[in-house]
Amino acid sequence: MAYTLGLIGYPVSHSLSPRVHTAALRALGLEGSYTAIPVPAEQLQPTLRTLVEGGYTGLNVTIPHKQAVMVLMDELSEDARAIGAVNTIIATHGRLCGHNTDGVGFLRALQEAGFGPQGQNVLVLGAGGAARAVVYSLKQSGARVTIWNRTAQRAVDLAREFQVQSTAIGAADLSGTWDLIVNTTSAGMFPDVDSSPVRLSAEGLTARCVYDLVYNPRETMLLGQARSAGAQAIGGLTMLVYQAAEAFRLWTGCGAPVQVMLQAAAAGS
Ligand code: NAP
Repeated sequence: MAYTLGLIGYPVSHSLSPRVHTAALRALGLEGSYTAIPVPAEQLQPTLRTLVEGGYTGLNVTIPHKQAVMVLMDELSEDARAIGAVNTIIATHGRLCGHNTDGVGFLRALQEAGFGPQGQNVLVLGAGGAARAVVYSLKQSGARVTIWNRTAQRAVDLAREFQVQSTAIGAADLSGTWDLIVNTTSAGMFPDVDSSPVRLSAEGLTARCVYDLVYNPRETMLLGQARSAGAQAIGGLTMLVYQAAEAFRLWTGCGAPVQVMLQAAAAGS
């Protein structure tokens, strides 16, 4: 069987996913392809239909379609429904099932870094799409989650939806006893590399681990601050690979060759 896989989003030219999934297919000797397909917002519905009729059996979904694509699914996984976004579609005989592998990918990235979230105090920076998967998965794992966001009301709204806490502490004052800080904002992402959502310092930082979802650049300003303050600092490339590994497993039924995928992502970043 040949797997016809792809990514829909806009833009997608920068994406590492084709490189990561192609490496996985080759490593397992599976026939198939993975193509990044730019799809403007207004073209989502007709393009999705055309791709599925044309033989695509697996698709990843990225910005700006993760929420809009939900109503086009015939079925949603429990994770996709709870998170409120789809990043992976399985098409079986024209029937579309939407999944979300971001939460699983994030938790596995933490686990591989030796951090177990159960019972830990976690500060999540950001209240956008990525924050939804992170907050949901942390809560499912038994962490005590608090959300901070530049626009404070969005933190309040997201915290209410997921029944966690929110805080309006200043960006330069992270007082609070955090075990883990997770950046889900896009601050620090290329080309905004001189930006950081908050300022971490050795005096004020209690967290022993800081995870930044941003993976371009691999070393963000936030991670540099965290490392200087003595915390473990981890960039978003591992989450990217582990969410891809889970999507690959859903499409092919095969355990994903994670080391090969990590190498492919690192070589492309
Ligand atoms: P989004 O829905 O557009 O949300 C953006 C968030 O960033 C909002 O909370 C926004 O705050 C905040 N923000 C933007 N610029 C900021 C700044 N200068 N200072 C402080 N906060 C700022 O985006 P998203 O889909 O959640 O993605 C966010 C990031 O996660 C992106 O960098 C994306 O590449 C990354 N990501 C990585 C992975 C992975 O696998 N590693 C997966 C998903 C996403 P306001 O509400 O105040 O605007």
